[in-house]
Amino acid sequence: MKSPVVDADTCTGCGLCVDVAGATFEVNDDGIAVVIAADGDDEDTIQEAIDSCPVEAIAWA
Ligand code: SF4
Repeated sequence: MKSPVVDADTCTGCGLCVDVAGATFEVNDDGIAVVIAADGDDEDTIQEAIDSCPVEAIAWA
């Protein structure tokens, strides 16, 4: 199964990925997006979140 990963050094904590796929990502207390459930949303929704990230901080692993 493909899993999304967030590059913490690149993420700005804008929250767009959470808006798109809130069952997969959340912004933690440090203001960085983290994966809370790799299969929280369907693959198309996660892909939409990846595409929406303005700094391309999310990739499939
Ligand atoms: S959309 Fe990108 S920059 Fe914004 S919180 Fe998510 S991973 Fe971070």
